[in-house]
Amino acid sequence: MDELLIEPVRAFDDNYIWCLRRGGLAAVVDPGDAGPVIRHLEGVRASLAAILVTHHHGDHAGGIPELVARWPVPVFGPAVEGIAGVDRPVRGGDTVAVGELEVAFDVLDVPGHTRGHVAYYGPKLPPEGAVFCGDTLFAGGCGRIFEGTPDQMHDSLSRLAALPPRTAVYCAHEYTQANLRFAVAVEPANPELLRRVDTVARRRAGGFPTVPSLIADELATNPFLRSGAPAVVAAARARGADASSAVRVFAAIREWKNAFR
Ligand code: ZN
Ligand code: FE
Repeated sequence: MDELLIEPVRAFDDNYIWCLRRGGLAAVVDPGDAGPVIRHLEGVRASLAAILVTHHHGDHAGGIPELVARWPVPVFGPAVEGIAGVDRPVRGGDTVAVGELEVAFDVLDVPGHTRGHVAYYGPKLPPEGAVFCGDTLFAGGCGRIFEGTPDQMHDSLSRLAALPPRTAVYCAHEYTQANLRFAVAVEPANPELLRRVDTVARRRAGGFPTVPSLIADELATNPFLRSGAPAVVAAARARGADASSAVRVFAAIREWKNAFR
């Protein structure tokens, strides 16, 4: 049996559509645009076996109709978001199996960015598990809270943070460098963060993706998973925020980031 490959397909300015492929069969996560997916699959001589979508935004779901017109495959997506083309509605606690690829995912509810955002966690994906988390957890950051509350988003991020530390984090955007600039403003003396800034700068200079990261990297350097860390609490407090709980610190940091340039 061919090994399972997880390949990035670039779309728009900074989206990643993740392609899971075993030989001539593939599944894609968050195909916001059909064109790049079709070109990629033609290039590797594969056809589509399934589509997974994390939330309803156009840059994640917009390519579904064109892809299913060409490959009539099952389309998994959050039950509560009414996404065009989704015919396998899923909720947290469900399992999604793509038999043709011999892969299976646990569906996690991660609302906040949108009301029904889900993540797909594959505990057996190589090398040590992987999660496809759309616009919830980013490398070095997190998504904006468009439809949920800070409470929900904090909960959702905590659910992802609790995955095994060697889990690979496949988010849907290449935002890492900008995220880390903000992270350094929050925690200028975090040595692991400063190391990551260098690593990421080198990868970007070479034209390589900075995704996936590992949950362990995010725990050590992502301010949105560190709202309990003394330095992050102190940074929120220094900006006049109510720092009486981890959720309030998280909310303050998220608002700070919204205005950060
Ligand atoms: Zn989004
Ligand atoms: Fe997005």
